[in-house]
Amino acid sequence: QARTSSKPIFLPHLIASLEQVDQTYIMVKPDGVQRGLVGEIISRFEKKGFKLTGLKLFQCSKELAEEHYKDLKQKSFFPKLIDYITSGPVVCMAWEGVGVVASARKLIGATDPLQAEPGTIRGDLAVQTGRNVVHGSDSPENGKREIALWFKEGEVCDWTPVQSPWLRE
Ligand code: ADP
Repeated sequence: QARTSSKPIFLPHLIASLEQVDQTYIMVKPDGVQRGLVGEIISRFEKKGFKLTGLKLFQCSKELAEEHYKDLKQKSFFPKLIDYITSGPVVCMAWEGVGVVASARKLIGATDPLQAEPGTIRGDLAVQTGRNVVHGSDSPENGKREIALWFKEGEVCDWTPVQSPWLRE
């Protein structure tokens, strides 16, 4: 049936759904929590315009840290990495958006903070690989896997921010 109304179609969430919406797992590591950088780090993603869908302060077990970093099990720094991640509470976050995985990696910066560009989180706030304040998933598949690993059913919220039409046409 032909559309008779002259009212414009203005459904940004519908248009966005035609593009690939991804999820990424972002985590403020124990050094970021201890150094009081939680608000600053959340702000970077919030200001960029991504949607926060999950958030909690959490003390993780050795088993969970090992599962999260299982691809690095053979690395010499693995035991130190597990000690670091379990050394205090972390802030677990799920963020959603078109291109969020790659964009979050850019906002975070290189693994070695001395190589990370100024303007990135690690470039601005850290000096050593073993204390690089934040984690971000490296692929959309790992984003889904890590969110499922760190959050329980019901801890991730689906919602529509009022700012949506001002972020995407
Ligand atoms: P990224 O976190 O940038 O994706 P990787 O997946 O390579 O980097 O490594 C995961 C984490 O392991 C790093 O963020 C860092 O905390 C730690 N790590 C990596 N390489 C080293 C290293 N050479 N020495 C100590 N810790 C390391």
